[in-house]
Amino acid sequence: MSNQNVSQLFGSMVFNEEVMRQRLSSTCYRAWKKCVSDGTPLELETAHEMAAAMKDWAIEKGATHFTHWFQPMTGFTAEKHDSFITPQDSSRVLMQFSGKELVRGEPDASSFPSGGLRATFEARGYTAWDPSAFAFIKDGSLCIPTIFCSYSGQALDKKTPLLRSMEELSRQAVRVLRLFGDRNVKKVISQVGPEQEYFLIDKDVYNKREDLILTGRTLFGAKPPKGQELEDHYFGTIKPRIAAYMRELDEELWKLGILAKTKHNEVAPAQHELAPIYTDANTACDHNQLTMEVMKKVAARHNMVCLLHEKPFAGVNGSGKHDNWSLSTDTGMNLFKPGSTPSQNARFLLFLSAFIKGVDEYQDLLRCSVASPGNDHRLGAQEAPPAILSIFLGDELTAIVDAIVQDTEYVDTSKKILSIGVDALPPIPQDTTDRNRTSPLAFTGNKFEFRMLGSSQSISGPNVALNTIMAEELSQFADALEGAEDFNSALHDLIRSTLRDHQRIIFNGNGYEDAWVEEAEKRGLSNLACTADALGAYLQPKHIQLFQKHRVFTAEELSARNEIHLMNYCEVVGIEARTMLDMVRRSIFPAVCKFSGETASGVAAKKSVLADLDCSDEEALLQDLSRLSAEMMRQTRALDEALAAPKAANAYEAARYYRYTVFEIMGRLRAAVDAMEVITAAEAWPLPSYTDLLFSIR
Ligand code: ADP
Ligand code: MG
Repeated sequence: MSNQNVSQLFGSMVFNEEVMRQRLSSTCYRAWKKCVSDGTPLELETAHEMAAAMKDWAIEKGATHFTHWFQPMTGFTAEKHDSFITPQDSSRVLMQFSGKELVRGEPDASSFPSGGLRATFEARGYTAWDPSAFAFIKDGSLCIPTIFCSYSGQALDKKTPLLRSMEELSRQAVRVLRLFGDRNVKKVISQVGPEQEYFLIDKDVYNKREDLILTGRTLFGAKPPKGQELEDHYFGTIKPRIAAYMRELDEELWKLGILAKTKHNEVAPAQHELAPIYTDANTACDHNQLTMEVMKKVAARHNMVCLLHEKPFAGVNGSGKHDNWSLSTDTGMNLFKPGSTPSQNARFLLFLSAFIKGVDEYQDLLRCSVASPGNDHRLGAQEAPPAILSIFLGDELTAIVDAIVQDTEYVDTSKKILSIGVDALPPIPQDTTDRNRTSPLAFTGNKFEFRMLGSSQSISGPNVALNTIMAEELSQFADALEGAEDFNSALHDLIRSTLRDHQRIIFNGNGYEDAWVEEAEKRGLSNLACTADALGAYLQPKHIQLFQKHRVFTAEELSARNEIHLMNYCEVVGIEARTMLDMVRRSIFPAVCKFSGETASGVAAKKSVLADLDCSDEEALLQDLSRLSAEMMRQTRALDEALAAPKAANAYEAARYYRYTVFEIMGRLRAAVDAMEVITAAEAWPLPSYTDLLFSIR
């Protein structure tokens, strides 16, 4: 594709600002701009004009339907399509789309999770247009990004809290900027660039794995002779079939205005990554949902399957999502960019201290925001960051923090001695060396990279957490500084005491070493190893207060979300357990019986012709198979009984039961099966092996 074609393609399916400028009257266009920048409500007249323009544009592009596109708490996206057709008389139809239809929709909400927020007698929720996100065309439908709420206004989706948190963060950040004498900034916007990891495997191989089809991950599978040891896949040459996929994926994403930028192979065989150019958190969240959807769709066209599960293969690197997060003003300033003047330095240090304090105080909340059954296999294993929150600052910045805390001098790289304060800050070189990939939350020059997210999760939750925590710390800082007699000295003291009190959260070492777990415990850092444990910490009064204070969640909304996450955990583990039972009983056990029987008759046949033949090694193999098979059936029965056991008193207890009883048995069952796989003939084993799966695309 030529460069010119790419620029024509980019955003061609998006009703973006450029299209609006061309197609709307200037009154309507200005009203929309004002609505987005100042939150001024749109008049119905304006909505009508907007709707008509959207419809005409969409029809020209071949669309026939429209849908309110929203992000319910399932973590997926939802849509309900209506055609533009309105009958005129018995033989004529008109293509219509009104302002009312644009602004508000009423999907039957009863089958989306609400965590008890919506009684069944008022099953209907409503969707409301989010004018700050552009409408787009997907599969012949005009998709209108919307929020999704209950009739009483409670959020039933992932977008509402994100928008609320962005607004609140902006309000608090602007307060702080005013103290620095800034009169121009009207808005501060959190910026996000999510790097998305995924696996691609051949569809024919995939179709032979019931576990992949039903759960997205392999529930059985022995380690392959060759895994990722040689690291020959990382940034390696991209195979032609994968390259063709990536090319088409880019094109599809560009049409949707998604800034897909880099693509490369990841560490594990069959693993890849896609990174977009960052944008505001709301758009980034919409775009990431679309990216995941398009990745799967395009894979199907290439007879492949895109796996977004956090841990499709045990013993092989899992997939995560790096949430690159920063704050930018509407005037284009990045508030995490170290500056070159005393005032910029002071501002940078203030935002940095607020972030450090926030992460330290709300470790559990950040941990909860990435808790999911899939991510449990990943956090703390292989390449993934541990479940302990800490911040990597790099050597230079850490030395600066130390100097501030101890009020000592700082010697910079050219051996120049600097007295560090808010007035004097040495230039902070971007850490170009290894950025310490073991850190869960790293400062990378002018942004923070939150690396604990699971590959399949919506990025909304973690960004809601980051935004709200930051809003809280900035509001505390603004409160303290607004009343200060001498701003500069109050600022200096505030930064110093904040860094001193929260230094324990800074850790630049290797997060994968056991020594860190011990050290973190000594520092009093939290370590919530699994989802069941983490979600138990979700409803701490401190979290409820935080979200209520900033009007991001009410207490009911928060507890509804917790309920949904806990129930989801139980359901996912339950489905996995039942899938294992099905696979063992209907394919693995029969296959092993057949293979053992054939091996036994082979040995007997040999003995019948050579009575004194020593077959003890072959018999040992048979004994191993028999013992393992017996163990497999024992664990199968145990799992069956565990699943039938009486249900727990509440969702939290239920999740713990699934984690500490059901999941443990699943581990033992898998161990027995995997041990049999490696001593059973390949043709007798009923499932494609890890080698077949991981090297399925040649
Ligand atoms: P890597 O982490 O792989 O070295 P980069 O640092 O270049 O790559 O960028 C990774 C992601 O971070 C990209 O999605 C990029 O757009 C995003 N990013 C870069 N700068 C910012 C920023 N200021 N705020 C948010 N995201 C950013
Ligand atoms: Mg990265």
